[in-house]
Amino acid sequence: AKKVGEYMLHLDKSQAAFREAKTLMPGGVNSPVRSYKNVDCDPPFIDHAKGSKIYDIDGNEYIDYVGSWGPMVVGHAHPQVVIALQKAVEKGTSYGAPTVLESDLAKLVMSVYPSIEKIRMVNSGTEATMSALRVARGYTGRDKIVKFIGCYHGHGDSLLVKAGSGAATFGVPDSPGVTKGTAQDTITVPYNDSAAVTKVLEEQGDEIAAVIVEPVAGNMGLVLPKQGYLRTLRELTQKHGIVLIFDEVMCGFRASLGGAQAAYGIVPDMTCLGKIIGGGLPVAAYGGKREIMDMVAPEGPVYQAGTLSGNPLAMTAGIVTLSLLTADPEDGQPDYSRVLTLKTKKLLLSMQASAKEAGVKIQAHQAGSMFGIFFNDKDVYDYETSAASDQEAFKVYFKSMLEQGIYIAPSQFETLFMSGAHSDEDIEKTEAAARNAFKAVAQ
Ligand code: PLP
Repeated sequence: AKKVGEYMLHLDKSQAAFREAKTLMPGGVNSPVRSYKNVDCDPPFIDHAKGSKIYDIDGNEYIDYVGSWGPMVVGHAHPQVVIALQKAVEKGTSYGAPTVLESDLAKLVMSVYPSIEKIRMVNSGTEATMSALRVARGYTGRDKIVKFIGCYHGHGDSLLVKAGSGAATFGVPDSPGVTKGTAQDTITVPYNDSAAVTKVLEEQGDEIAAVIVEPVAGNMGLVLPKQGYLRTLRELTQKHGIVLIFDEVMCGFRASLGGAQAAYGIVPDMTCLGKIIGGGLPVAAYGGKREIMDMVAPEGPVYQAGTLSGNPLAMTAGIVTLSLLTADPEDGQPDYSRVLTLKTKKLLLSMQASAKEAGVKIQAHQAGSMFGIFFNDKDVYDYETSAASDQEAFKVYFKSMLEQGIYIAPSQFETLFMSGAHSDEDIEKTEAAARNAFKAVAQ
């Protein structure tokens, strides 16, 4: 068996580029997980991407299931997106003034997220969640928030708190640089534990402005809400006058077309979206009940702004992507989301079978076009059970997949994504690669 860290791929140019990048940027990257630090190898540097494939600067081709961490749902460089962007760029790249494009994207989003009565576009998921919290605090006049351990909502200070074991109530900073004062206002509880959140809300409900949750959690690997859990959150927040924020930055348009809220039939007060709504350009959004959103400046007193917010190029990429996704099946178009779900299911079933054949215990999870596996023989339903997964097995699996031209996230605590560009042939190749990878794990 090949050892982890032994390359079959030629990555000479990538390795040289990484050496240089490390002298210029912390860890050589502009977002930590790209550094491949936890899989003990160097990352391929990307030259270009097209459809389901991504190509590195050494000329290696990979079938891509990272999809820029979610946005590339119609595939890379989709011809309609490219043409629309080419036309848009001729008209200037930013005006800092209103455009009809912003309303067009807003209407497309609202057509599948009826819980969003008003929306504000921002540039990243981090901004969306940060701003939603500020609005919820302004609206309720309360300071505290509840988040769930293992849910990631971007890197805003109040959301980078996970709580140490003894400090579940008061919160401790998870990252140096987050002040104690900020951390104190973030209460963290385990995901999928109805009793824990009920207790916190019963005890401190009248001080809590918002409960923010990834209704389908994608940042501790893919973890699904237990039956009735989201309903419990809805009922409890309603009872205590707390704003329920669904962070659907990742699971929006993926868990189902209408996100987790449509899939589970729960109406949150506010929703954060990102990734897909920008079609690969920097866009995110927050929105919700009219009464809450009317707190936002200039309508209301809660300030939030952005030089590049609603940028015409980003709006254009979002509009084309969402138009493709939301095309009405009755117009003779395929039901995009359903096809993605079926493709994902086929791949995952095959992976489960080949893991079993190799004698490797995995947990395979799917939500629409999101999927992931854990090297774990027990159920995974929260951060603790996810963290108990076998890291060494994942490293062997990851390396084997990469060497066979399958580009997956370099951590089992990330979710993978299917796109409309993945062909049957891509999926069959991936199934064959996974079969070999599980055998390598078993050795
Ligand atoms: N919320 C969720 C659920 C996410 O998955 C992410 C990013 O992965 C974010 C927020 C932050 O988004 P961004 O990276 O655009 O700031």
